[in-house]
Amino acid sequence: MHLIHTAAALRAALARLTEEQGSHNSIGFVPTMGALHEGHAALIRRARAENGIVVVSVFVNPLQFGPSEDFSSYPRTLSADAALCETLGVDVVFAPSVQEMYGEEGTSYTRVHVDTLGDTLCGRSRPGHFDGVCTVCTKLFHMVQPQRAYFGKKDAQQWRIVARMVRDLSFPLDIVPCDTVREADGVALSSRNAYLTATERQQAPVLQEMLQEVRRRMHGAEVAWDEVQADVLRRLQETDFRLDYLSLVDSDTLSPVRTTSAGQHVLCAIAAFIGKTRLIDNVDWVVDRA
Ligand code: AMP
Repeated sequence: MHLIHTAAALRAALARLTEEQGSHNSIGFVPTMGALHEGHAALIRRARAENGIVVVSVFVNPLQFGPSEDFSSYPRTLSADAALCETLGVDVVFAPSVQEMYGEEGTSYTRVHVDTLGDTLCGRSRPGHFDGVCTVCTKLFHMVQPQRAYFGKKDAQQWRIVARMVRDLSFPLDIVPCDTVREADGVALSSRNAYLTATERQQAPVLQEMLQEVRRRMHGAEVAWDEVQADVLRRLQETDFRLDYLSLVDSDTLSPVRTTSAGQHVLCAIAAFIGKTRLIDNVDWVVDRA
């Protein structure tokens, strides 16, 4: 496995691998911010199964963090990440510095913006976040030139926005959404779970439990969201969580759903703070036709 820090070395390594393996071999790409866990591993295994060459990027992207967010404290564990990638059969780990990605100024004057989809849910509470995500994905897609890029459904809005960008700007690759990997108690794996104290971790399952309750109650058509939302939110008041949002939206357009209609694909997403940590989770389903 190659551990590479510059775009030039990445280009050279990919040219060599493509020549060795034949140009029919596709490149599968898993972009990450590192501190890898089983959720990332599931994406990497899928990429390994579906492609001749697998590239994982490890880059904590300053463009997608707000000024009061956790960019400097975000966990950085590159040697453990590289060791895990090696056991998963990754060909290249690309771990560039901020300067390598954004030059001495450490930023990009050009940003990629996806309209509408980026303005709701996490985009509302993290202004500029998805522009940062789309900008870094654009750069990484150009550098790696994958045929497929793998994203987790845990970040429900992120994979939809990146898929829309790929469609709108005609990137020659497919976005492959992958199921969320969870702990036994239902908590979605996240690098940010490392921030939780023992008591905070004990309370974390409530997010998934609330989402499952929404799903149970809103499985049928013609159910009003307002009432269910108010009931479900009461559960959060018994915990130390502070709500950012709990929203029910159309799974494709991310526009708010007030009443379910038969056959509609809906997404319920939650974001909440506990202590200094912001956690997100979501569930999606198709409303019963009956
Ligand atoms: P991150 O390192 O948090 O930026 O995540 C990199 C990729 O891994 C993103 O596509 C995430 O959606 C995905 N990911 C993170 N956690 C999970 C999880 N628990 N299950 C599945 N995918 C995940």
